[in-house]
Amino acid sequence: MIATDITEQPQTSHGKRRWMYPVIRKGKFYHYRNWLSYVYLALFFAGPFLRINGQPLLLINVMERRFVLFGQVFWPQDFFLFVLATLAFIVCIVFFTMAFGRVFCGWVCPQTIFMEMVFRKIEIWIEGDAKRRRKLDEGPVTREKILKKTLKHFIFVVLSFLIANTFLAYIIGSDSLIKIMTESVNQHWVGFISIWVFTLAFYLVYSRVRELVCTVICPYGRLQGVLTDNQTLMVAYDYKRGEPRGKIDRKDPTHKGDCVDCGLCVDVCPTGIDIRNGAQLECVNCTMCIDACNQVMEKIHRDLNLIGFYSDEMIREGVKPSFTSRMKAYSAIIAVLLGVLVYFVLQRKDVDVTVLRTAGMLYQQQPGNYISNIYNADIINKTDKLQNIQLEPEDPNVKIKYIQPPGILAKESSTKIVFFLMLPVKKIHAAKTDIKLNVVEHDKVLNTIKTTFIGPYDED
Ligand code: SF4
Ligand code: SF4
Repeated sequence: MIATDITEQPQTSHGKRRWMYPVIRKGKFYHYRNWLSYVYLALFFAGPFLRINGQPLLLINVMERRFVLFGQVFWPQDFFLFVLATLAFIVCIVFFTMAFGRVFCGWVCPQTIFMEMVFRKIEIWIEGDAKRRRKLDEGPVTREKILKKTLKHFIFVVLSFLIANTFLAYIIGSDSLIKIMTESVNQHWVGFISIWVFTLAFYLVYSRVRELVCTVICPYGRLQGVLTDNQTLMVAYDYKRGEPRGKIDRKDPTHKGDCVDCGLCVDVCPTGIDIRNGAQLECVNCTMCIDACNQVMEKIHRDLNLIGFYSDEMIREGVKPSFTSRMKAYSAIIAVLLGVLVYFVLQRKDVDVTVLRTAGMLYQQQPGNYISNIYNADIINKTDKLQNIQLEPEDPNVKIKYIQPPGILAKESSTKIVFFLMLPVKKIHAAKTDIKLNVVEHDKVLNTIKTTFIGPYDED
């Protein structure tokens, strides 16, 4: 169902890139996107500085293997939760693409939000509407051109710098970013270089690469062809209503379709395509063409939504959109994945303990007719508080003797300990005995873990 019409690619006939000068027509959808973009931008810039229980909203510190999501700290041991969350996210994207095409690109993707709602607006503010921008670019170098271009690119660099800093804050944390900003460059030269590399990358993306990110670079766009079908709702032109297209000619009484071939839907398209040629990979579902065409329809007193959210089936057969069995299957998978994810997140403990009997060791005889096993444990304090952790056997007959006690654990730290568990011989009734250990902090049981104890037991 998705076509790629090479005549509509953003290139000239010589294979050169065609620079886009999209016209802005502010309609219903544009206003929705505008308001949404304010929310996204506020969240993006405030995100690293917002705190929940002293933790940032989102932190993806790959170098230190520390991840924070909505104030919850995730450790490498919680990696499976990240895998689950990523899987759920991917299935959600697949589902939404199947149901609504590339709507993520036009409405949520940071590339589109920054490009169309920030950088494009600044460009229009400085250089004027599409006609003026084209004239300025094609015209000779004048004082006005130099001034406008310098001002625009200066603001672009400043904005890219701000985005780069915020982006880095999501990776290293806002505290580390503030240190880079306030302390000597010599102490943070890696961070300093990273900021400028990111700044350059963002500046190039928003000043030069632009829509090519969506039409050529982004692999998600390429996936559309396999994810969508003729029941997918996406921005589409109702060719049954629109064709045969043609200018209104009051002298010619021959009936034409509703499309007056004004070309406005093409002029507003940031990726430079003509939606009347059918669904195309380059369409990011930004809805600019819907707004533009509706304004034309209003003017000529014809029904709105000649371009709208339609599936191919809706246009061809006039049927209503339905919740297909494919969508039902994906919804079920999403529900299961989210259910499992929520279950495991709720099961997470503030202090994580892994106990393993020391490899290659059986049991030892101890004075007082006791048998002991030796264990190694990893204790992780996932909280932002000091933790004074002790392990206490649930069975009063079991004694614990530390070789290396846990001590007080600093916030978000881990330690390794070694200890003996000892059991009186007369209490050993099997070769392997299950033992429960409570992880206790100031008489409060934080967690209970199970391990096994090997003893000298002869079943005969
Ligand atoms: S904006 Fe509407 S009327 Fe104008 S060319 Fe596009 S589809 Fe036709
Ligand atoms: S065809 Fe319409 S919805 Fe698609 S990218 Fe162009 S303007 Fe946006």
